Amino acid sequence: MTKLTDLLFKHWKAKDFRPMQKEICISILENNDTLALLPTGGGKSLCYQLPSLLFEGSTLVISPLISLMQDQVAQANAKGIKSMAFNATQSLDKQLDNAAFGQYKLLYCSPEKAQNALFLARLSQLNIQCIAVDEAHCISQWGNDFRPAFREIKNLREKLPKVPIIAVTASATPAVIKDIKEQLALNNPREFKTSFARKNIAISIENTQDKFGSLLRIFQNNSASSIIYCSSRRETEEVNQLLNSSGIKATYFHGGLSAQQKQDRLLAWQEENIQIMVATNAFGMGIDKGNVGLVVHLTIPASLEHYYQEIGRAGRNGDRAKAIAYFSPGDEQRLIQQFLGQLPSPEFIQKCYKSLCNYLIIGHGEGIEQEWRLSFQDFCQAYQFNPKKVDACITLFDQASIFHRINTNRQNASCRIISSPAQFKLELEKAPPSHSKVLQIIGREYAGIFERETIIDLDLIVRKSNLSFSTLINVMEHYKQQELLLFNYATSDLHLIGIKPRDDKYTLNQLLRNTAQIHTAKKEKLNSILTFVKQDDICKQIELLAYFGESITEKCSLCNAKECLPEGKEIPIEDIAVQILNYVERGPIATHQLKVSLPHLSVEELAEGLAWLERQQKIKTNALAQIMKL
Ligand SMILES: [Zn+2]
Repeated sequence: MTKLTDLLFKHWKAKDFRPMQKEICISILENNDTLALLPTGGGKSLCYQLPSLLFEGSTLVISPLISLMQDQVAQANAKGIKSMAFNATQSLDKQLDNAAFGQYKLLYCSPEKAQNALFLARLSQLNIQCIAVDEAHCISQWGNDFRPAFREIKNLREKLPKVPIIAVTASATPAVIKDIKEQLALNNPREFKTSFARKNIAISIENTQDKFGSLLRIFQNNSASSIIYCSSRRETEEVNQLLNSSGIKATYFHGGLSAQQKQDRLLAWQEENIQIMVATNAFGMGIDKGNVGLVVHLTIPASLEHYYQEIGRAGRNGDRAKAIAYFSPGDEQRLIQQFLGQLPSPEFIQKCYKSLCNYLIIGHGEGIEQEWRLSFQDFCQAYQFNPKKVDACITLFDQASIFHRINTNRQNASCRIISSPAQFKLELEKAPPSHSKVLQIIGREYAGIFERETIIDLDLIVRKSNLSFSTLINVMEHYKQQELLLFNYATSDLHLIGIKPRDDKYTLNQLLRNTAQIHTAKKEKLNSILTFVKQDDICKQIELLAYFGESITEKCSLCNAKECLPEGKEIPIEDIAVQILNYVERGPIATHQLKVSLPHLSVEELAEGLAWLERQQKIKTNALAQIMKL
């Protein structure tokens, strides 16, 4: 099989395969159904891309990542593997012609497209020799990102009975693996799994009430490239500000930023101009940066799959790296509320669907391939719905291929200056500084704005003027009233594309059947991660791998579980002292209250810490037997 090695060098510029890659390629080329479980960064896509070069026909790649498909195609083409993706912008008929005669090695398509009647009818013309199912865990309700449309992939089997299927995923618990095999009807699949162990990552779960204080202390002594995961967009902005105001260079990233902002920030971080990326879990997919030395979770994520994937962005170059997750006793209730409290009931899902269809004026049997842009908030207000529940419903509609959801941001603003240039100049001179700044920027940045209505980038103006977004809107509205300019600002932040026609009775059937199971799966996942962070005896690596069905016995000696702490030295006395001081600094506190606030410390550890602080003359006991700062 020197041929494989030659192709590896020719297209990937690599001399050696990563573990299992070669065996997986050979299995495919021998026409076996194949299941490949490789951790993120293990080179999953190569496992079907490389064999595609040796097939005479094409490999059909089913990928759930509609938004990333164009990138995947571009990357494959850049490697010299001729590829195309079926998209929504061109007629399917034309694209099928192109696919049939274009001699593509890889044809990317969504699971929904693979069910299209026209697509199935013309499938035999495409000379498909292999079907690759990317992110195969989407087929299982026990995995993250369940997409019921994945379950229909097995229908391709009937049309192409002799074509082997390769399923690849980076996240597979035993229940998910079983589901993948069953749902894809894999025939005696050859199974490949490399260890998911990331031995160079030191996992630490920190029990603290003062997450921000602790975060600042960490970054005073850490210069490694880092990611801080937060639970909300707002939190990323707050933490970013906190770091920057303490002289620590950071930037933030979340789904509400414009594409340009995302690209700029990612680049600044990748090129080491910025050390810390403060982000929601929207950050990280498809990013391969070798030298990330620290990943912090300010709040634990919804599942161990998420956690594993996120900490896995540290230490890709093999160097020692750290993963710190904060957990405070109050978090448990908050997480249950955040991840389970908002799960919509079947009744609410039905109500929300009907209301959304009415709001968008979709008639019975209509809605396929139509597009809408709307204000999420307006919709919630119109029907007095809880936004979090509506958000959860729209996510379900997206997963169930009823609506495809694209989140947008406040980019839809246009402006035209209708006063004469002379009048404009006069206004500029007499305006207060904040107002004149805005007028100057608009006049300078948009050359044609005196002649025609022009799309303006409000985020850009916010950045250049140093004004807040709301002040900018106020300034623009002010001049609109003065009839100096025209200003249209659409608050649409939700972009939906219809996939299934409206039918109040049937469209939701499958989704409603699945809902109960999805809820149970979510509950189990949250319980697993809560158990993981709460127990502090067993090695974290051992516990994490056990979740992914891998049993190892060797402890990592890096994590902060009791069995991995160095012999004879449990928690360092200085750490205990800092934790106690955090409370004492806020005012006198009784010992039993301290014990409640620091539940992870044993009575002995607490007593030792207090004695140590007294010896250091940092604290004293007052007349009420409370501990006070000195
Ligand atoms: Zn350990």
